[in-house]
Amino acid sequence: MFDIESRTGGQATSIPLDATQHGAEWLNDGVQGGSSIFRHTFRFFRRYGYEPQPVKLQVSFGKGRDSFWTNVFPSPLVEQLSSEIKKFGRVLKCIKYLMPILGILPVKAILRIFRFSDDFSNKMVLPLLALFLGTGNQTPNVSSVLLERLFNDPQMKLWDYDPDTLLPNLPIMYTFPNLGNFYRDWAEDLKSKGVEMRFNCKIEILERGKKGALLRTQFHDDCCRGQANTEMYDHLVLCCPADEAKKLLDRHATWKEKYVLGGVKFYNDLTITHSDSKYFQQIFESQYSPDLCASPTSETQKKQVAVAEQQPLSQKDGWQGFRPMYFIHSFPSDPEKIEMGFDCTNYQHQFRETLGMDQPPLPQSRHVFQTIFLDDQQQSLWTWNDIDVSKVIARKWWHQFGHRWQHYLRVVPGMMLINGTYRTLYAGSWTMVNMHEIACISGIAAAYQLGAAYEPFDDFAEDFFAKYLLVCHGTRYKRRKSKEH
Ligand SMILES: Cc1cc2nc3c(=O)[nH]c(=O)nc-3n(C[C@H](O)[C@H](O)[C@H](O)COP(=O)(O)OP(=O)(O)OC[C@H]3O[C@@H](n4cnc5c(N)ncnc54)[C@H](O)[C@@H]3O)c2cc1C
Repeated sequence: MFDIESRTGGQATSIPLDATQHGAEWLNDGVQGGSSIFRHTFRFFRRYGYEPQPVKLQVSFGKGRDSFWTNVFPSPLVEQLSSEIKKFGRVLKCIKYLMPILGILPVKAILRIFRFSDDFSNKMVLPLLALFLGTGNQTPNVSSVLLERLFNDPQMKLWDYDPDTLLPNLPIMYTFPNLGNFYRDWAEDLKSKGVEMRFNCKIEILERGKKGALLRTQFHDDCCRGQANTEMYDHLVLCCPADEAKKLLDRHATWKEKYVLGGVKFYNDLTITHSDSKYFQQIFESQYSPDLCASPTSETQKKQVAVAEQQPLSQKDGWQGFRPMYFIHSFPSDPEKIEMGFDCTNYQHQFRETLGMDQPPLPQSRHVFQTIFLDDQQQSLWTWNDIDVSKVIARKWWHQFGHRWQHYLRVVPGMMLINGTYRTLYAGSWTMVNMHEIACISGIAAAYQLGAAYEPFDDFAEDFFAKYLLVCHGTRYKRRKSKEH
C-alpha cells in the first residue's frame, strides 16, 4: 500500500487540543460523524475497540428571525413556508415515479419547475442537502436523484421527511472515535499481518498491460528523496481522488478511463478550526433567543419551546436544550452560496464525556468551532478574515469532489466500464457519494473483485454492499447460503 502522505486515513484526521482550555484532548477535524447506515465503518471501528457515539443532532440554519430555522423548536420561517414543505413531500414522490426523466435534472431545475419560492429553495432545501452531502456551493447542481434517495432510500437516508417541519425533531447521528488513533491501529494490525505500507511514497506508472503494472516508487518528503525502485504488480487498486488517478495513469489511460475519471469535478475547500465565539455568533445563530421562536401551535411544540428556554444540560446522546452542532447560512449577496460551520464542542462526544452528565455547557469562549469555506474560486465571499487569528487552532485545505448532476450521468454509470481495465480497480467515495461509508464499501468491493470473500455481518450492510458492487463493478454479489453464515 502506497500513500503520498505520511499516515493513513486520508480525509479522516484528528488534531490535538489544549484540554485545560477546551475540555477535550483531541478533535476529529475532517470526517466527524455519520448516520446509522454507516455499518461497515462502525464494524471497522469495533474491530479495533472503538465505538461510534450517538448524538441527537441539532441544526441551526440561517441568521436572523427571517432566515433562521432549526429542528429544535418552531421558527417563523418554518411556519411561513409550511405549505411549501408539504408540497415538497409530493414533489419527492413525483421524482420517484418519474425517475428516469426528473432524476437526472439538477436540484435547482426541479425547484424552479415546481415553482418553489427562493426562500424555500435557498433557506431550506439547499442548506439541508448541503448538510446531508457536504456538497457545499455545488448543491444547486446536485442531481435530484440524490435529493429523492436521501429522503426515501433506506440505505442512504439520514432522516425521514416530515410534512410539518421538513426535518423530524432530533434525529440520531453518530460521532466518530479519534480517527487518527483508529487508522493508526488499523494500519499496525495490517502490517502485523504482512501488508507492506509505504508512506510519503510517490508512484509513477511506467507500463500497464494484461499482466499488470510496472511502477516506479520513490520515498519523497519535504526534506529528502529516497532511491527510486522499479516494481511489477499483478493488480492496481487506485484509491486516490479521480483526478490524481487520471494523472497517475497519464498516457496509459484508455479513452474510457479518461472520460470517466475526467468527469469528476473537484473543489478546493478550507477549514479553519478556531475558538472565536464572537465571530461564530456573528455568522450563525448559536444561542436560544425568544425572537427566533414562533408561537407554538401544538403540545409538542410547547414542550420544545419550554426545553429550549431552559439552561442546556449534557446528556449521553447530546444535549437537553438548544445546543446546535451543524450551522449553515447563505450569503445575502449570493443566496445560492453557503458557508458551513460546526460547534464541535456541542457535537463531538469527547467534550461531553469530560464534562459528565447533566452538566451545563462550557462557556462559548472555550468552545471549538469549525468553519468550512467552500470552493477557493469563491474566496471573495468568504468571511475568513473576520476570524481572530490568535484563536485559530488549525487551518487545512481539502480537495473534495462535487455531486454535480453530471456525476450521475457520466461517472457513476461509467465505473463499471472502467473497473478491471488492465487489472486496475478504483476505490474512493468519489465513485458514488461523498461519505466515509462509501469509501469503506468501495475498498471492500475492490478486495472482493480480487477474490476476497465478503463476510456478511448485517443484512442491511450486505444489501448496501451488493448494490454498490452491481452499480460500480457491474458484478452481482453471490450471497452465501444461510448454512454458511
Ligand atoms: C472537511 C471534511 C469533512 C468531512 N466530514 C465528513 C463526515 O463527517 N462524514 C462523512 O461520512 N464524510 C465526511 N467527509 C467526506 C469524507 O471525508 C470522504 O467521503 C471520505 O473520507 C473520503 O475517503 P477516500 O478514501 O475516498 O479519500 P481520501 O480520504 O481523500 O483518501 C485518499 C488517499 O489517497 C492518497 N493519495 C492521494 N494522491 C495520491 C498519490 N498520488 N499517490 C498515493 N496516494 C495518494 C491520500 O493521501 C489519501 O490517503 C468530509 C470531508 C471533508 C473534506
